Amino acid sequence: MAQDRKKVLVLGAGYAGLQTVTKLQKELSAEAAEITLINKNEYHYETTWLHEVSAGTINYEDLLYPVEKTVNKNKVNFVVAEVTKIDRNAKRVETDKGVYDFDILVVALGFVSETFGIDGMKEHAFQIENVLTSRKLSRHIEDKFANYVASKDKDDRDLSILVGGAGFTGIEFLGELTDRVPELCSKYGIDQNKVKLTCVEAAPKMLPMFSDELVNYAVNYLEERGVEFKIATPIVACNEKGFVVEVNGQKQQLEAGTSVWTAGVRGSHLMEESFEGVKRGRIINKQDLTIDGHDDIFVVGDCAAFIPAGEERPLPTTAQIAMQQGEHVAMNIKHMLNGEPTQDFQYVNRGTVCSLGAHDGIGIVYGRDISGKKAAFLKKVIDTRAIYKLGGVGLAFKKGKF
Ligand code: FAD
Repeated sequence: MAQDRKKVLVLGAGYAGLQTVTKLQKELSAEAAEITLINKNEYHYETTWLHEVSAGTINYEDLLYPVEKTVNKNKVNFVVAEVTKIDRNAKRVETDKGVYDFDILVVALGFVSETFGIDGMKEHAFQIENVLTSRKLSRHIEDKFANYVASKDKDDRDLSILVGGAGFTGIEFLGELTDRVPELCSKYGIDQNKVKLTCVEAAPKMLPMFSDELVNYAVNYLEERGVEFKIATPIVACNEKGFVVEVNGQKQQLEAGTSVWTAGVRGSHLMEESFEGVKRGRIINKQDLTIDGHDDIFVVGDCAAFIPAGEERPLPTTAQIAMQQGEHVAMNIKHMLNGEPTQDFQYVNRGTVCSLGAHDGIGIVYGRDISGKKAAFLKKVIDTRAIYKLGGVGLAFKKGKF
């Protein structure tokens, strides 16, 4: 009977949440559960492409599509609303559009940028966090180039971009910039030698997930295209002029018209407000992806800190893991509805590819190092596969990278 149907509530339509829902609608009949998906936008966006929108190498429309295109209306109630409170004990979620009760909850609210309290970073640096922040950044970069040409007193800082962090996002963004800068220079008639791209990284080593050989490949590739690296150089502040760094105990001001912070993310702020034992927006989950004391609450994606059995450190935050967790949770919900025990999550690491613009990259795929055009090709396959898994063949043809 309809009133006996369990209420399954999924928060967030990113990789983890949308994968949970698309798998649930495949696995369950319309009578099996009342499924509601809540997301603050009517669209889903490919977060892993945000560096491209940020640099301006693709348009923002290219990485988003309506959530409605992926959900089966007969089985899923999709609500566009912002979640404002999760009351785990009352089993209720508050949003700006109303209150929703649940029997089973899936929290998939994703990440936000983390500036670690660095003075002025939040106020003065651009962040690569969502569609809006990325659009703002690409427009700003182009405005600065246009301003350089239009102004009588040329200010070289208009053509300088500082990137804080040589992690995955920082390197992928720099790769896109090395594609974008020649386009902008040609459009505005600017001598490319005047453009300055500087990457500032506090750690002595970049991209720790890759071998030294691959890291050297990426550094050489980007340096040949005009990127200067300042490694082992902590950023201690950010202001309207750029970054303040510390070199040999002395503070130095690096000046640029654009400063971008790419060096940290954390899980949603709602996590600390809703659960105990949360660190930087992430909660350690049990092996079946529920959380301690709540067998009916799953946490997945960037809000989860999943430590595989026998290991000490949580898995990193990646789209690959978020999607695998989403699929797993859908199956565990099916088990629960059938009165069966839930299964433990096993992560299958297929590899990681870091793009260096549209035509090059580095990666480890099934344990093997790859670089160059092969890596760039594989990255496009991975990006297209993600759309296929969430939206099917039609959407993959429309939005995929061919
Ligand atoms: P998200 O994708 O962040 O989705 C969360 C969803 O919840 C969003 O739709 C958001 O709008 C919604 N939401 C948030 N708060 C609320 C609220 N209060 N109410 C309602 N809705 C809300 N990973 C890889 O595996 N490979 C890569 O190559 C890769 N490249 C990356 C490149 C960049 C530039 C970035 C920034 C990240 C990259 N990542 C990559 C990491 C990957 O994008 C994240 O790990 C992944 O997006 C996490 O998925 P998620 O579903 O947990 O969260």
